[in-house]
Amino acid sequence: MAALKHYFRSFLLWELFIGLRLTGKYLFARKITVQYPEEKTPMSPRFRGLHALRRYPNGEERCIACKLCEAVCPALAITIDMQQREDGTRRTTRYDIDLFKCIFCGFCEESCPVDSIVETRFFEYAFEKREESIMTKPKLLAHGDRMEASIAADRAADARYR
Ligand code: SF4
Ligand code: SF4
Repeated sequence: MAALKHYFRSFLLWELFIGLRLTGKYLFARKITVQYPEEKTPMSPRFRGLHALRRYPNGEERCIACKLCEAVCPALAITIDMQQREDGTRRTTRYDIDLFKCIFCGFCEESCPVDSIVETRFFEYAFEKREESIMTKPKLLAHGDRMEASIAADRAADARYR
């Protein structure tokens, strides 16, 4: 009896109609597919994308070489060398982030006492060579300069939610 039932189901293309019923159900439903990259999905102000080092409005870099971010990084992705200036302030001579090691956890950003290292909204990047995966201090500062308006807007939006 089961074999006969199976035979008739196959003969009448029953499974095909079941599938088409599901297709028909979604044919007129609201479309949720996003046409990336022309369209973008909404993004949280706390999105963790490519890192950047920020400056103060007078152009001075914020980082005080306290190495907290290096210590807290669970992936050991940050390498910092520092030097003391003549005026007693400390500044980094080397600040590298290995993006192949980084897990984008945001701990470095959370630990920074002067809001220097941040993870920006920028995520559309790629590398052609292994060494390009190292975000050096000049690259981080340049990226921070490019993204400063977006970072400041996100900070303001984030403060409203707290
Ligand atoms: S996001 Fe996390 S893993 Fe990446 S550098 Fe910062 S602390 Fe390290
Ligand atoms: S980025 Fe922030 S936490 Fe890291 S060394 Fe500089 S001041 Fe310290």
